[in-house]
Amino acid sequence: MDVVVAGVGIAGAFALRSLSNELSVIGIDKREKLGFPVKCGEIIPTRKEMESLLPGLYDYSLFDIPKRFESNRTRRVCFNTGKREFWFDFEFHVVRRDEMIQTVALESGHKVETKTVIRGFRDGRLITSKGIYQPKVLLACDGANSRIAKDLGFWKYELSSAKQYVMKGVECEEDTVYMFIGKEIAPGAYAWIIPKGNGYANVGVGFRREFSNESVHIALERFVRDYPYSSCFLKRAEITSKIGAVVPIDRPLNKAVKGNVLFAGDSASMIISHTGGGIPIAMVAGDLAGKVVNSYFEGGSLEEYDLLWKKYLYEPLKKAYSIRRLWDFLVRNDLLKLINLASARDIEEILHCKIPLKLRLLYPLLSLFL
Ligand SMILES: Cc1cc2nc3c(=O)[nH]c(=O)nc-3n(C[C@H](O)[C@H](O)[C@H](O)COP(=O)(O)OP(=O)(O)OC[C@H]3O[C@@H](n4cnc5c(N)ncnc54)[C@H](O)[C@@H]3O)c2cc1C
Repeated sequence: MDVVVAGVGIAGAFALRSLSNELSVIGIDKREKLGFPVKCGEIIPTRKEMESLLPGLYDYSLFDIPKRFESNRTRRVCFNTGKREFWFDFEFHVVRRDEMIQTVALESGHKVETKTVIRGFRDGRLITSKGIYQPKVLLACDGANSRIAKDLGFWKYELSSAKQYVMKGVECEEDTVYMFIGKEIAPGAYAWIIPKGNGYANVGVGFRREFSNESVHIALERFVRDYPYSSCFLKRAEITSKIGAVVPIDRPLNKAVKGNVLFAGDSASMIISHTGGGIPIAMVAGDLAGKVVNSYFEGGSLEEYDLLWKKYLYEPLKKAYSIRRLWDFLVRNDLLKLINLASARDIEEILHCKIPLKLRLLYPLLSLFL
């Protein structure tokens, strides 16, 4: 076996897509159906937004998301602080994430083995519930709780938990993604209503244990039933499914190549950590990892991967992490209300991983406390 792609979520599917069919490749995943159940809000910024989020990327066509994966397209964001609402234009694809993963993996032409659990990685051997693999290259795309990162001894990511319902009968604007912040609903994180079309929506809360004594379940129930700014859309809505999951909110790994193992996506904490947006980053990282492996088998070096993902992803991810730390500082010191002094443009910039001018001026002072 030349390459094993360990974990076929977003990063794994996009790695398979870019891996050459000249190589012997297998993707393995513990799930019976790839990407299912969906543990995600399922929004991906459109290509236009990605051009601003990841300036200078080598290829934006990755974000020409085919219509068949889209359940809805939103064009604006309503960012609610409990005191103010900020409205601004920001376009997202709301995707059928499971279908997207399954189709991208299938169309890659590579073999995928489902219902195969990675149990450990020792001495270059990937131990799974269906046998042992010893590939020439291993792509570790096994998500936020990466077994492989744990076994290599560097997994230490800060995580946020999240709980989400899919609801039907939601009465919000279907072209708007709603984000809610505030200590009553999601201290240190945010809550969301993401319309999927036809009255369906992903409704969830992010949750940071260090900022709250209650459970994520209670936080979500309050958001759905009692919080006035969200419950008004959900009065007649019914829950059709529930999920709980974690998302890394840390800095990315400094080096994502460990010998012949390449990490991509959540397994390397490659994430826009202040929003928990990991899909576009995992798409790019998976794509790059696959391309580097192809050139490795033609005499190139695996180390090239570290150069490339850093070139295209590191700056925005670093800014996202700084924003997240600043956010934590505001929450810890009960200063989150300062956000009400921002403009809609400032919030839009923050969602684009940019630090608004006001904050840039204050940052040297604030960084003394961060
Ligand atoms: C509630 C929630 C909502 C989110 N909403 C959004 C959003 O709207 N937009 C966005 O951009 N990001 C969102 N994210 C983050 C996003 O889902 C992740 O960053 C992204 O999926 C990372 O992709 P990945 O391929 O690295 O990991 P994953 O997609 O998690 O894939 C990892 C794969 O590895 C497999 N795997 C794991 N362990 C094993 C094992 N031991 N054996 C075999 N297989 C294994 C899993 O089954 C899975 O298929 C959200 C996260 C959460 C938790």
